[in-house]
Amino acid sequence: MRLAEYTSSRVGGPAADWIEATSATQAVQALRALDDSGVPVLVLGGGSNTLMADSGFPGTVVRLAFSGTEVVEEADSTVRIRIAAGHSWDEAVAWSVDQGLTGLEALSGIPGSAGATPVQNVGAYGADVSQSLVSVQAWDRRAGELVTLTKEDLRFGYRDSVIKRSLLASDDTTPRWVVLSVDFRLHHTGRTAPVRFAQLAHALGVEEGDWAPLETVRHHVLHLRAGKGMVLDPEDHDTWSTGSFFTNPIVPASVRAHLPEDAPAYGAGRDADGEPLVKLSAAWLIDRAGFGKGFGLGPDEHPIAGARASLSTKHTLAVTNRGAASTADLLAVARTVRDGVQGRWGVELHPEPVLVGCAL
Ligand SMILES: Cc1cc2nc3c(=O)[nH]c(=O)nc-3n(C[C@H](O)[C@H](O)[C@H](O)COP(=O)(O)OP(=O)(O)OC[C@H]3O[C@@H](n4cnc5c(N)ncnc54)[C@H](O)[C@@H]3O)c2cc1C
Repeated sequence: MRLAEYTSSRVGGPAADWIEATSATQAVQALRALDDSGVPVLVLGGGSNTLMADSGFPGTVVRLAFSGTEVVEEADSTVRIRIAAGHSWDEAVAWSVDQGLTGLEALSGIPGSAGATPVQNVGAYGADVSQSLVSVQAWDRRAGELVTLTKEDLRFGYRDSVIKRSLLASDDTTPRWVVLSVDFRLHHTGRTAPVRFAQLAHALGVEEGDWAPLETVRHHVLHLRAGKGMVLDPEDHDTWSTGSFFTNPIVPASVRAHLPEDAPAYGAGRDADGEPLVKLSAAWLIDRAGFGKGFGLGPDEHPIAGARASLSTKHTLAVTNRGAASTADLLAVARTVRDGVQGRWGVELHPEPVLVGCAL
């Protein structure tokens, strides 16, 4: 089984072994057996945030292929829903909008599975899953038991959670906790939703903070995302990516002082020593370091990786496969951009996707 067929960048070599888990029970049995025998494990949802090595994966891929949505609790104004890990995230969002439930609509169009959304606290257009997530049911690979982790247990941050940190802090290829289902608390709001993002408010013709019909919010989010190549489309190579390749860097406010006045920066709390932090725009840093949309394609610039990979022609944050790229090609583009930004602005960019068997 070639991983390229199961990842949105369409790169990655073969997996030594492959299990398609069609139920949570089957996933747990497989994970327990593999961990007991010491076989490397890679849990895969939609493959939209994973960059796989060209050499493939020397262990067993466990693909979570079980789906389902259910209402588990109803109160006057709220509903608690449970989404199985392998369920398509966007289908779950569409379902919630159809039910007239508010909370997930701004997260329309994000590829991948519901179970992966807490891993990096998926977010867009002023929303992220931490705002409505209640808890997850998960298999704790270290303790060998089923657990419920609340929103507080998950200690969410910007594109971050305790699950993602458990992965980055180890040389394992799968997090300590494998999410089996996710619970969200959504609101009955008479089919309208608050608009929390200026660009979205502008597209809707309302003020930020105003309310708009749920279906209209979803429609406009999908439209805005498609214009940036951020909705998967097999015909459009700008979407053959992992979405944003770099996270927006969070740096001491003193770093901001060395950037031009028009560099976007947003308050991001304080570090352990109390120094104020700001979040910079990775897209701005990349663009203004000389890496515009389509960088890497040539002929005016230096084509990188034989122009098989480039920045998206719609958005400078996505590193895209133009049809015949390898993982090494994508990494060559990403490396050039990362090093160029470091050289121009002195700011280090970090990859958002999980790199498996490869490094930037
Ligand atoms: C075009 C495009 C646009 C995107 N836009 C956005 C966006 O707007 N906002 C955003 O936040 N992200 C965005 N992404 C990134 C991606 O869609 C999300 O991170 C998504 O949640 C990944 O889901 P997945 O099932 O594809 O994860 P995968 O790539 O399959 O897995 C990602 C990581 O999570 C682990 N994992 C997967 N499932 C589980 C589970 N059930 N339990 C524990 N670990 C698990 C995997 O082992 C891997 O380490 C975009 C990606 C693309 C291609």
